[in-house]
Amino acid sequence: MHLRFFGTSSAVPTLNRNTSSCALMTDENRVWLFDCGEGTQRQFLAYPAFRWEQIDVIFITHLHGDHIYGLFGLLSSMALFRSTLPDGGGRVELVGPKGIKDLIDHVGRETEMRLTFPLAIHELGEQPEVLTVADGPLQLPLRDGYSVKAFPIPHRLRSYGFVVESRPKPGDFDVKKANALGVPFGPMWGKLKPDQVLGPATSKKLCFLGDCTDGAVAFEGATFAHELADKARSHGHSTARMAGAFAKRIGAQLLVLNHFRSAPHEAQAECPGTRVLAVRDGEDVSF
Ligand SMILES: [Zn+2]
Ligand SMILES: [Zn+2]
Repeated sequence: MHLRFFGTSSAVPTLNRNTSSCALMTDENRVWLFDCGEGTQRQFLAYPAFRWEQIDVIFITHLHGDHIYGLFGLLSSMALFRSTLPDGGGRVELVGPKGIKDLIDHVGRETEMRLTFPLAIHELGEQPEVLTVADGPLQLPLRDGYSVKAFPIPHRLRSYGFVVESRPKPGDFDVKKANALGVPFGPMWGKLKPDQVLGPATSKKLCFLGDCTDGAVAFEGATFAHELADKARSHGHSTARMAGAFAKRIGAQLLVLNHFRSAPHEAQAECPGTRVLAVRDGEDVSF
């Protein structure tokens, strides 16, 4: 999986950091965007990575402005740039909390935003939800075999985390297993059943978390230093140390801190077996 971070600042943009936005580039060169802070479309120009028609899905973790104020401008520009393509470049899915449809309808109506492509809006509920319904109301493009699960996490406004899982790949051929079956090396190996000789299937999981107040659940944003843990909680955020502890609990191989002001070494101290990265705007992460 390949991620590009377009905005890593919390609450307000700074000279070098924009507010939240991150793109997952799928194996088939489609783009799934997570959050869309103000100015996200300018970040696409500053750190070019794809064309407008490649955007398939936009996930919004919650409705705080630093995660959504860029969405209206982005949709408006997408309508412009995709207007000459057949069917406006294809259907776009927007997944977010309850209220997002009203927001889009209202802003669209009052600002004469005319979309040139089909936009399907899916509002999430209070229960965890598996977003793999290819023919239902939500038609996530699952060409790459990804599955997505959305689940609510505690914050001041309702916030969501998303787990994207790639299609499991068969395990490697296990020579020891073949030998243990007493089958000599040669063409007979090709006739063994996969479950007899293959190692466990593996898949990759990306857990993208909106703002979250509970370090026991997790996060995207290590917004505060740990000495300010109470302040972090009262603002509905987590600290780097909380993130590190969570990464350890779930056995994460990689923890990417985003939306932060605090030091990543605090997270690393909590999860020595996990690779910890603190990303800046325009940075790529592959795993
Ligand atoms: Zn935020
Ligand atoms: Zn927030």
